[in-house]
Amino acid sequence: MTGTAKTHAKGFKPEAKKHLGQHFLHDQGIISMIVHAVDPKPGDRLVEIGPGQGAITFPLLDRHGELTVIEFDRDLIFPLSEGARAHGTLEVIHRDVLTVDFTSLANESRIRLVGNLPYNLSSPILFHALDHAAAIRDMHFMLQKEVVDRMAAGPGSKVYGRLSVMLQAYCQVIALFDVPPGAFRPPPKVDSAVVRMIPHAPDKIGIDDRALFARVVRDAFGQRRKTLRNALSQICEGVSIEAAGLRPDARAEQIEVADFVRLSNWLKANGS
Ligand code: SAM
Repeated sequence: MTGTAKTHAKGFKPEAKKHLGQHFLHDQGIISMIVHAVDPKPGDRLVEIGPGQGAITFPLLDRHGELTVIEFDRDLIFPLSEGARAHGTLEVIHRDVLTVDFTSLANESRIRLVGNLPYNLSSPILFHALDHAAAIRDMHFMLQKEVVDRMAAGPGSKVYGRLSVMLQAYCQVIALFDVPPGAFRPPPKVDSAVVRMIPHAPDKIGIDDRALFARVVRDAFGQRRKTLRNALSQICEGVSIEAAGLRPDARAEQIEVADFVRLSNWLKANGS
């Protein structure tokens, strides 16, 4: 246990803190569905983000025997460690997850990330995980349903956008099931959903310049009603995107993820 404050007795349940996105799961059916979706196997290296009061942590420990958790709220550290004793071996990292090097947590196995994430930090956590994609075997996250819909959307969908392309370029994204507000205490104002993400093998990603790829996707969707030619006029200055095999009158929302990769690689090779 790192940085632990032994401030509370066993069984103490602190009030939920809004600024930490605390909505604690209490629906046992949903908790079982998450554990079932993760389906831990012997030797798996499980890491949970934001264990809270242990709603997913303890059932996962019952199944798997050991788990590492990353929790920022000091008031939860002692109750978690104490509560875990009856379930298995818990390593608690008391840190902001955005400062945790996931790669260093992987041992001979890549890590399997699990979490009912604080919704105010979902995008930063997703992008932080992508930075460590090579060390991650899979992820199972509870997020706002609206975010999961955007993550999993394909071309032609109203919600296909920057998040869809950036995540799907690096991972397979599979929406698993929806979760109503009543499954949490306190209930959030929005519906939630559980998503599975499986990083592609590094040699399958094929992005030659990650920063350029991110810029192409950002600019393309930054002006989503413009044609690709106009939206990318700055990046593509002096080069024609027809030469990259794309229709210049197409809009970003019609372009496949693989075509964004091809376009950014072509721009890299042709001097952007
Ligand atoms: N897993 C628990 C559950 O399902 O009941 C709690 C989920 S709650 C939605 C999000 C959890 O993330 C809280 O325990 C909160 O304290 C924690 N959290 C918030 N910001 C964090 C951060 N930057 N780093 C690590 N944990 C954080």
